[in-house]
Amino acid sequence: MTKQKSIHDKLTELAGNLWWSWQPEVTSIFREIDHVRWDELAHNPILLLREYSPDRLEERARQEVLHSRINGAYRRWQEYMDSSDTWGDTHAGVLGHRPAAYFSAEFGMHESLRVYSGGLGVLAGDHLKSASDLGIPLVGVGLFYHEGYFSQKVDEHGWQQEQYTFAEPADLPMVEAIGADGKPVKIAVETRHGSIFARVWRLNVGRIPLYLLDTNIKENSDEDRKLTARLYGGDHRTRIRQEIMLGVGGVRALTALGINPRVIHMNEGHSAFAPLEIIRMRIKNDGLSFDDALRETAASGVFTTHTPVPAGHDRFDHSLIEEHLGPLADELGLGVDACMGLGRVDPHNHSESFCMTVLAFKTSRRANAVSNLHGVVSRRMWHSLWPYRSEEEIPIGHITNGVHVSTWLAHQMRVLYDKVLPANWHLKSGEPEVWAGFERVTPAELWETHQSLKNRLIIFARESLVKQAHRLKRSVADSEALEGVLDPRTLTIGFARRFAPYKRADLMIRDIDRLARLAGDPERPVQFIFAGKAHPADDHGKSILQRIARLEHDDRFFGRIVFLEDYDMNLTRHLVQGVDVWLNNPRRPLEASGTSGQKVVLNGGLNFSILDGWWAEAFDGKNGFAIGTGQTHANQDIQDQRDADSLMDVLEHEIIPLYYDRDDDDLPQGWIRRMKRAVRTLGWRFNADRMVMDYVKECYIPAAGSLSCEMTTMP
Ligand SMILES: *Cc1c(COP(=O)(O)O)cnc(C)c1O
Repeated sequence: MTKQKSIHDKLTELAGNLWWSWQPEVTSIFREIDHVRWDELAHNPILLLREYSPDRLEERARQEVLHSRINGAYRRWQEYMDSSDTWGDTHAGVLGHRPAAYFSAEFGMHESLRVYSGGLGVLAGDHLKSASDLGIPLVGVGLFYHEGYFSQKVDEHGWQQEQYTFAEPADLPMVEAIGADGKPVKIAVETRHGSIFARVWRLNVGRIPLYLLDTNIKENSDEDRKLTARLYGGDHRTRIRQEIMLGVGGVRALTALGINPRVIHMNEGHSAFAPLEIIRMRIKNDGLSFDDALRETAASGVFTTHTPVPAGHDRFDHSLIEEHLGPLADELGLGVDACMGLGRVDPHNHSESFCMTVLAFKTSRRANAVSNLHGVVSRRMWHSLWPYRSEEEIPIGHITNGVHVSTWLAHQMRVLYDKVLPANWHLKSGEPEVWAGFERVTPAELWETHQSLKNRLIIFARESLVKQAHRLKRSVADSEALEGVLDPRTLTIGFARRFAPYKRADLMIRDIDRLARLAGDPERPVQFIFAGKAHPADDHGKSILQRIARLEHDDRFFGRIVFLEDYDMNLTRHLVQGVDVWLNNPRRPLEASGTSGQKVVLNGGLNFSILDGWWAEAFDGKNGFAIGTGQTHANQDIQDQRDADSLMDVLEHEIIPLYYDRDDDDLPQGWIRRMKRAVRTLGWRFNADRMVMDYVKECYIPAAGSLSCEMTTMP
């Protein structure tokens, strides 16, 4: 008889696969073991379990009556890992034993694994989770950053301070990846000044393996050991070295693991060196010419571009390319000039620097933007790469981003979904009929659920502010005042995103007196919760952040506008699940998609946004609110002023009246109708299952099966 697994064994196994992170039930088991330590350990279950011997854990589980829940979770996990009649089995069979390889510079799976900075990473994490749920043969490839992106503190002047902490691999759900030869994988990438080495970690995201390369090993110089320490840190040289590790190193790692991917999916241009390594192998192993190898490699390449903002497209000068791509170019039989040409729109234009996005376009036959509008903008932006085609014929399609439902849907909301949607709705979340049932939710139940999530957000916000006040040694009176900020009955608007200037976090304070009048209205007040990080090198972004953070010192706004530190996936979850309204006011058309508003939709919040990114194709007049009419003006100042005016007008004349229009039971019936409409019309479209199915159908399968047809999604 085999020994039965202990509670400790089962929880340790669960903690070792990130599947738990999108199971609210498993998360709550970890929390209930010790909720104080759970928070102190930043929601890391491996660290939590380390504090318990098997006996003590057994004891604790008995106290909290957790045994059957732990056994149930463990059984569900095993069923999940073993299930074989998935969507992928029927629809992605052609990928078979040669998976799609998904390359990304960042992956956001959970707040305890800080290898993401923001939207791009969270999207990549959601992509892996949906690929796992759908049973798609896919592997992820990225870098392991010991220090990750920074954690944010705001000082007494409202100025952002960055803090980095070193994460031990042993504290995270990863193990050294074992190669086809039975040994831990180690790879090298050559430069003109020696090689950079990396080891490879394996993480399990449900059924999907994620491989992260790590240069912090003794073979490397001190400089190179730090190469993968920080995400988006350092200078151009750091960046190109990270990117050659991600692209070339990533393909070498897959080769060492015995994985020969059928499709290479580049999530943004950071990984665009990957196809060059595949071309090198094709030339060496199959004796192809460079041109033939490029054509065949590009046929299996898929490239997703993520931003029209120029700073989002990495560019390198000739000397950095020569130093880092020189040895590879030699093997490809290319001189450095020809190599530079691969990253230039006009290969012979010596004044053009090397652009990773251009390289990605040239090495992938299928390319896509991340929303309908972003598709239009991208075709215009990259028209010069296909000078003989009209704008509509530029081969850049679009697949609109979506969010992973189980990750972002609050548990209480899920209970409502379970009541009114068909059984196993979460396995069919890309189908509109499945969501139609949401109309059946009773208004009172929906409103109570929403209010309880909003209360949770307000408690979370107060705790965060009090903690900050303690750190800044503010007076007892200040702390006490902060314990009472924000009112659960007040219309609550959330705004959280990177403090990149084009996102215009300060748009709504352009007319600060008008805002004060609305916020302070005695009958129908409004309150705001802000969060977000500025890039460490972006002082302009930090000064915008400072203006927002300092509003609490203006008596008109104390307790009505708060700024919460350290925007991460945990803070996102509280915000998107608890706000009434989610505000997004980028300068159109610079927001390629945006996804945070999609998380809000799932939880019954209403979007209030510029018609940009996903919202331009999502808004139907009644499922949220729009700022402006989708017009842009060549003069930026005029555009900003018009948008600011529209923002205030809609807030004052539409949002506030609708929110406070209550029936005899104090229910805002008109508002609740919009909440339902938002879930019903948007939930099925803007979720990651639908997105991944689109990638499979429109990109992976054609890329796996044919050599020459282009992606067909054109608006
Ligand atoms: C979802 C998410 C984002 C993306 O939000 P945008 O809508 O693109 O601003 C960024 N950061 C975190 C932590 C997120 O969870």
